[in-house]
Amino acid sequence: MKVISQRIGSVTVTALTDGVGTFFTPRAEAFASASTADWARADALDPGAVTPEGEWLLHFRVFAIRPDDGPVTLVDAGIGPADAPAKTWAPVPGRLPLELALAGIDPASIETVVLTHLHTDHVGWAVSGLFPNAAILLQRSELDWISPRMRELLPDNQLVLLDGDSRLSASTRIVATPGHTPGHQSVLVDSGDDLMAVTGDLLVHAMQLVAPLTAYSNEMDPEQAAASRTSLFATVKGRDGLLATPHLTEPFVRL
Ligand SMILES: [Zn+2]
Ligand SMILES: [Zn+2]
Repeated sequence: MKVISQRIGSVTVTALTDGVGTFFTPRAEAFASASTADWARADALDPGAVTPEGEWLLHFRVFAIRPDDGPVTLVDAGIGPADAPAKTWAPVPGRLPLELALAGIDPASIETVVLTHLHTDHVGWAVSGLFPNAAILLQRSELDWISPRMRELLPDNQLVLLDGDSRLSASTRIVATPGHTPGHQSVLVDSGDDLMAVTGDLLVHAMQLVAPLTAYSNEMDPEQAAASRTSLFATVKGRDGLLATPHLTEPFVRL
């Protein structure tokens, strides 16, 4: 097993895979407006994201941002243990505790967990108590849409609610990227000459790389999501930067 990391200036970003599994929405329904040519281009870019039966195959990934001189920040918290909220559809239990150990990260040492949004496959280990000493950062507007059950699961004593963009450190900042959900946020790591965007579900499939305006059925506001996506992609492209992706086969993608 290999730990996959990418160096951004003086920061190491490590991809941690919690699981791999198929999605509950058939891909032709997930991207209903995509053309045959779009699918051909998307599949050429990410041939691993489809099973021989034509199902959408996703990775479920968490990223650790590790500055040379600072504490670890985690972006997202995966599908979680066997009894996690994602258990109805995702391949639980996830293997994040093992991946963290392989990467040399003690979960108790993590001071900050940024949740890009509150879909169940992004919160699993944060609501299970794996990070007892972490502040859990969320956009306040993300609380507006969630179910009472999800609200109850969130550890109030760890929550820090944000209103829009927010700086975490000299090299790391949070940017609001609404649309997939109302309070969706992404993380930019900017160090030396390098830039990386940890996208969250702003980017769930290579379809959105080849045709970024294509609506995705699980986006709450597809138009707003497309605007957030094109804006973030433009920022990254302008710096010849990288994307860190939760669900594509490859964790790191250059635009
Ligand atoms: Zn999502
Ligand atoms: Zn997701």
